[in-house]
Amino acid sequence: MSTSVATRVAGVDVPTGHFIGGEWLAGDASFETISPIDQEAIAEVARAGEREVDAAVGAAAEAFPDWAALGPGGRAPYLRRLADLIDANVERLAAVECADMAMLLRSLRARVIARGALNFRNYAELAVAYEERDWRSRGTWNRVQRTPAGPAAVITPWNAPFMLSTWKVAPALAAGCTVVLKPAEWSPLSCAVLAQLAAEAGMPPGVFNVVQGIGEEAGAALVSHPLIRRVSFTGSPETGRLIGVAAARNLVPFTAELGGKGPLVVFDDADLDAAAAKAAGQYDDAGQVCLAGTRLLIQDGIRGAFLERFHAAVDRHVLGDPREDATTISPLIHPDHVDRVAGFVERALADGQRLVRGGHRLDGLLFEPTLIEPTRDDAEIVQREVFGPVLTLQTFTDEADAIRLANSTAYGLSGIVYTGSLGRADRVGRAIRAGVIWVNTFLVRDLTAPFGGVGISGIGREGGDYALDFYSDLKTLQILDGSVM
Ligand code: ADP
Repeated sequence: MSTSVATRVAGVDVPTGHFIGGEWLAGDASFETISPIDQEAIAEVARAGEREVDAAVGAAAEAFPDWAALGPGGRAPYLRRLADLIDANVERLAAVECADMAMLLRSLRARVIARGALNFRNYAELAVAYEERDWRSRGTWNRVQRTPAGPAAVITPWNAPFMLSTWKVAPALAAGCTVVLKPAEWSPLSCAVLAQLAAEAGMPPGVFNVVQGIGEEAGAALVSHPLIRRVSFTGSPETGRLIGVAAARNLVPFTAELGGKGPLVVFDDADLDAAAAKAAGQYDDAGQVCLAGTRLLIQDGIRGAFLERFHAAVDRHVLGDPREDATTISPLIHPDHVDRVAGFVERALADGQRLVRGGHRLDGLLFEPTLIEPTRDDAEIVQREVFGPVLTLQTFTDEADAIRLANSTAYGLSGIVYTGSLGRADRVGRAIRAGVIWVNTFLVRDLTAPFGGVGISGIGREGGDYALDFYSDLKTLQILDGSVM
């Protein structure tokens, strides 16, 4: 393997190789990544095969005993330094992520990158506070010890590459695991900058490694590597199943967050202006958000009043270049993805579903905010995640009907409920099958709360101590009373 060159993206030097054992390595093969803003190639990125993956996992395995032995207090300063470096490099990270996946520059600068720093800062503290439990029973002292699990494989999706990677890497490192991260091939670059910053933070070689490459090649080799002790994945249900099978072959625990088809339920006792504005906000990030409430479920008496407000709010969206302040909806990630989103809309219309607004591709990779009123609850457009600016609208009669519709897909990641009644919020929130329910709000989330899905939305929980549990092995130590000093 030779040393890779970096390339300049949006005025920032970005390494294009793999980061293995503290060094940048190019390997033999590469792939091209394009910017969704103008579809121009912006980087030629190293493409790992089994050899590079084996080297990265080997480096993680070698670094593991010393990293684990540091303990939470010994690891915390590295995580804090990395958090500080992320904060000091918001502009660079935001510019690269904007060029690579077209997330709005404004929100990257204002909150998305900072949330990545917060993940490292939070987990430095949480791991130190993560307590072992002691109790006396049957003439013995019992103690639950938590030991770091070993090298962890982390596979992340293209829609929020930086934030979602830090969301997994931070708890893994804090718990004492070493990490091999494989970012998604459509947006690999911000994670390369993360590796650069980890090195600058003095992270010992091999503690944090990044292999770049294609899911079926590098990803598959990584999750099935025999030295990997944990697998954490965010992506599609289809890939999640493959990764689960690979982890199961090695009897390795895995978590998977696999997207959603969340309901946004509006009752007739809700603040309609707020509900309609939030519904229009589901087009943010061009709908490439797993937590989005993409199925609007509206109580039948307020359909007209809701739609009037919804249309007015959607009309205020500005489609365009994510670098411009006024833009609220940016281009989709990739031409193949635009085809996929357009395919969903075309099939829905051919199947007799009613187009309420939008439905068309625009310049470049932009796609109109689209609303479809299905004629059947089992229509594909209601049942499958589109991951684009496409919502559906269904009406319901009463609470029971709303709950029935909300639970009528195989997904169960998130739900949004608009109501003026606390009793109803509690009842409906409890009844909707999901990992998180927001009432009269959306997307505000405490990073220490549990996060994950039910049904085909995933398995396992991340966030707070739940992620530390995942990256640790629990052991019971039992000592005969009075036998030790
Ligand atoms: P999407 O359909 O949203 O692109 P995927 O589930 O295909 O989502 O991809 C999410 C991540 O999983 C990406 O990093 C991708 O490279 C990786 N991936 C895809 N296929 C596999 C696989 N067979 N094994 C491991 N990782 C994979």
